[in-house]
Amino acid sequence: MHGAKKEESSFSSSNRGRILKEECGVVGVYSFDGKDAAPLIFYSLYSLQHRGQESCGITIIDDKLETKKGMGLVADVFDFDKLSALEGYFGVGHVRYSTCGESKLENAAPFVVSHSQGYLAIGHNGNIANSQDIKSGLEDLGEVFVSTTDTEVIAHLIVRGFVKTGDLVSSIQEAMRRLSGSYSLAIATRDSIIGVRDPLGIKPLSLGRIDDTYIIASESVAFDSIGAKLIRDVEPGEIIVIDKDGLRSYRGLRRTKTAHCMFEYVYFSRPDSILDGKLVYSVRERIGEKMAEVDDVDVDFVMAVPDSAIPFALGYAKKRGLPYREGLIKNRYVGRTFILPKQTARELAVRVKLNPLTANVKGKRVVLFDDSIVRGTTSARLIQILKDAGAKEVHMRIGSPPIISPCFLGIDMPTKEELIASIKDVEKVREKIGADTLKYLSLEGLMGAIGKDENQLCMGCLTENYPIPTDQREQEKLVKYL
Ligand code: SF4
Repeated sequence: MHGAKKEESSFSSSNRGRILKEECGVVGVYSFDGKDAAPLIFYSLYSLQHRGQESCGITIIDDKLETKKGMGLVADVFDFDKLSALEGYFGVGHVRYSTCGESKLENAAPFVVSHSQGYLAIGHNGNIANSQDIKSGLEDLGEVFVSTTDTEVIAHLIVRGFVKTGDLVSSIQEAMRRLSGSYSLAIATRDSIIGVRDPLGIKPLSLGRIDDTYIIASESVAFDSIGAKLIRDVEPGEIIVIDKDGLRSYRGLRRTKTAHCMFEYVYFSRPDSILDGKLVYSVRERIGEKMAEVDDVDVDFVMAVPDSAIPFALGYAKKRGLPYREGLIKNRYVGRTFILPKQTARELAVRVKLNPLTANVKGKRVVLFDDSIVRGTTSARLIQILKDAGAKEVHMRIGSPPIISPCFLGIDMPTKEELIASIKDVEKVREKIGADTLKYLSLEGLMGAIGKDENQLCMGCLTENYPIPTDQREQEKLVKYL
C-alpha cells in the first residue's frame, strides 16, 4: 500500500527531513479573465512544496493538452522556457511524495488518460485502500495500466464511466462509490477543471479566487502565494466543476460524519494555511496551551525542535508564563539528497542540521517540544545533543498523542512494530530517548485544540479506530459491483 520506507534520518528526501512524510499537493486553475494558468499553478505548487518533493507536474489545456513534469522540486523542474511553453487559461498541477507506487517519472502526476471522447488529466492527494482490488477488476475487463499509482486507478474508473454514459459528474459519483480511502483530486478535461474531495474529507481541499480566476488547491496557502483569497473549503464528498458556464457544485457521496486527518493540523500542513475553517498556526498554539494546563515541571525556559514545533512551545510558554528561547538552530541549506547511510554518519548528520545553541542551554533545565515521536531515535539524538551542550535537564513534550499504528490513508509511516509507542509505554519511551520527563498531548487535548471531535477527525494512527474498513473482506465488498 505504501511506498518504500525511508530511513529515519534528518537527511531523507523530505525538505523537512522527518520520518512522517506528507503525501501530495494538488492545484487546479480556471481563468475566466484570460490569465495564463501555468504561472499561477507554478507559484501555487511552490507554496505546496512541503507536501511532496519527489516529482511535480503541470498540465495546461488550450486547443490541445500539454503536460510537463519531472523528478525533483518545482523550482528545479520548471524554468522560464518550460512555463512559457504551457499556454492556456486552465489546467492542473501536482507535487508528489509516493505513498503508493514507486518514485519514478512514469508515476509523476498529473496523470493523463486519453479516451474516445477526449482526455482527462488528474492529480491526487491521498491513498486508495482498495486500489489493488479495483485495478485487478479493471484489468480483468481489459484495461491496461502504465503506472503503479492509485491515481491511474481513479482515472480509469472515471473514464470508463464517462465513455459509457457521456456524463462526467455521474461517472465521478459512481467512482466515489467504488473508492475506499482518502482523495482530494484536481482534474482537467478538455473544457473544465474539477475538484473532488473524499466523502470523509480526510485530505484538505480549498477553493479560492483572484478576480475572475478560480483556484482549487490542497491548502489555502497556495492562494496567498498568488494574491488570491480563500472562498471556502471544498466540502467532504463535494464535486466542483468549473467550465465556460461558471462554477457548479454537486454532491458526490454523502456521509453523516467527517474524518479530517488530525496530523494535517499537528504537522503536515503549513501553519499559515486555513483547514476546514481553522488556522493551523492557532491550532498548534492551542495544543501548547492545552499541554501547559496539565504540566507544572520546573524549568528555566521552553524551546522547540524547529520549525513545526515552535507554535506548540510558544503557546505552552505563554500559558505558563515561562520564557521561550531558541536552543537548536536549524541549518536550512542542507541538501535533500544528503543521505548518510551509516548510523555514526547519521548522528553526525543530525548535528549538521540542528546545532545546539550552547550559550542558551548550558546549565539550564528546558522543556523541549516536538510534534511526534515515531521510532524514537531522532528524539534520543536531539536530547543527547542538548545534554552534550550542557543542558541540565531536558523535559520532552510532544504535540500529538502517541502514534501506535500506521496510517493507510496517505501518510508514509513505519510498521507497527517500528513505532516505539506501540511497543513501549510512556516511561519506557522516556528511558529510551533519555529525557528527564516525557509527556504527550492527550486525545482530549488534541480534539479541544482543533475544535473538532471524534466524529469529525481521523485519529486512526492514535486509536486504531480508522474511519474506513481496514479488513480485507470489507474492502472487497466495495469492489463487487465492478
Ligand atoms: S491514520 Fe493518522 S495520519 Fe492517517 S489519515 Fe488518520 S490521522 Fe492522518
